Amino acid sequence: CGIVGYIGTKDVKNILIEGLRKLEYRGYDSAGIAVMNDNGVHVFKEKGRIAELEASVNPDISATMGIGHTRWATHGEPSKYNAHPHQSFSGRFTLVHNGVIENYEKLRNEYLANVELKSETDTEVIVQLIEEFVNEGSSVEASFRKTLSLLHGSYALALIDNQDADTIYVGKNKSPLLVGIGEGFNVVASDAMAMLKVTDQFVELMDEEIVIVKRDRVEIKTLDGIFVHREPFTAELDA
Ligand code: GLU
Repeated sequence: CGIVGYIGTKDVKNILIEGLRKLEYRGYDSAGIAVMNDNGVHVFKEKGRIAELEASVNPDISATMGIGHTRWATHGEPSKYNAHPHQSFSGRFTLVHNGVIENYEKLRNEYLANVELKSETDTEVIVQLIEEFVNEGSSVEASFRKTLSLLHGSYALALIDNQDADTIYVGKNKSPLLVGIGEGFNVVASDAMAMLKVTDQFVELMDEEIVIVKRDRVEIKTLDGIFVHREPFTAELDA
């Protein structure tokens, strides 16, 4: 299973699909991408191989930011509905997640008792909680940090907001996630190998950190919103 993301100036579809191919070795049962352009967020996901996902992607859609995922199911059978990305009820937020949320039932009962979730995954609770806190009046970043601070378990996450084409939010705890730095673009990946064709500069994330990824900068913060400074390293793997 794995995660990729790209925000820049090039068409994102193939960057995501090629990145996911490099993560195939980690194992998966389904795969998906979400890309965003002026017409909104477009989600493509399929059970099965990356080749099936690739065949399902509308070639006419061009976009310069997006996120991708290979799933190894832990909660909910492998299926198109349980495949990631998952979207919030209004469609505003779109999320990919690797890992396991151990307290997802408790969170669902506490915060989402009156709604019917769309999938059987532990993941969907995360994206619905973020939207819930935004609906209550918090900023997207504050809602993202608050939601992550409620999660018990492991996660590598990437989130996009259909009202903001300039930001990918990422977070991690006990699952690997790197941010890759470019000139006029930035990327996200579970493993540097997935993005070595686009950059060899990476920043390592620590547990319970988030990153606000823009085209021209990345901002690392703790779940309390404190800025963290960390220099990139050069990845020296063979692409
Ligand atoms: N627990 C999540 C699910 O079953 C994510 C699995 C993964 O790491 O791919 O959908």
